[in-house]
Amino acid sequence: MIQPIKRLGQNFLQDPNTIRKIVDSLGAETNSRVVEIGPGTGALTKLLSERYSDFMAIEIDPRAVEWLSHELPGVRVVQGDVLEVDWVELAKDAPGEKVSAIGNLPYYITSQILFGLLDAAPVIREAVIMMQYEVAARLTAAPRTKDYGILSVATQLACTPKLLFPVSRNVFYPKPDVKSAIVRLEFPQSVTEQRVHPEWLRRVIRSAFNQRRKTLRNSLSAILNEVQMSLPDELGAKRAEELSPQEFVDLALYLHKAQ
Ligand code: SAM
Repeated sequence: MIQPIKRLGQNFLQDPNTIRKIVDSLGAETNSRVVEIGPGTGALTKLLSERYSDFMAIEIDPRAVEWLSHELPGVRVVQGDVLEVDWVELAKDAPGEKVSAIGNLPYYITSQILFGLLDAAPVIREAVIMMQYEVAARLTAAPRTKDYGILSVATQLACTPKLLFPVSRNVFYPKPDVKSAIVRLEFPQSVTEQRVHPEWLRRVIRSAFNQRRKTLRNSLSAILNEVQMSLPDELGAKRAEELSPQEFVDLALYLHKAQ
């Protein structure tokens, strides 16, 4: 075993039933290219590499990479930072030019990993990821609920997120401070052409939620000044949490056309 390092988000899974349940949540065909994020000491890696012939794992901790080279010889484990992974490059030559991702994520970078996957949506088939329960609730939240925010809108525009099941703190060593859950992200088979520039869309969503208690007329005032527009009365009186992900796209498009 290796001594877990808190700074690297190392909470290792210990329970065989939970491990099997997580691996079984991945619907990918056995010939799919599957990439594990943060294999650590290999709790998921053993089962995954037995099931998928086109498998690789990315791990930042050289001690874990060394451990896995002895425990699971022949399994492809690359030492590196998942935040620097070029998913498009990884998907090249894969069946259907797409990859599936799986991992018990290091929680200190959950959002960055998630945004990396969302940005790479056209080359991702699905992702099964363990994250903090609170983040899972935000990803899957519906409009007009307290958890609905930037993360919900960004995720639901790129894929369909499903909160599959909660995971007890007791199945990890060491036990994490927060509750956990498994989420599956199902990406569309073909991505429809974005009609609106992603950065512009992100700016509109962010501005609206940064002052989520204000009406859109007020929270978007800087943008409205910039494009020299006002919003129709009914829309301007709404708050960010009342808009569906698609309504944010329509709003961004409407404001963009005005420029
Ligand atoms: N998969 C193992 C398990 O379930 O027992 C370990 C999961 S642990 C929560 C997260 C893993 O991600 C650790 O092994 C940690 O070293 C690794 N990790 C942390 N930051 C990383 C990064 N930036 N890139 C790749 N791996 C990272």
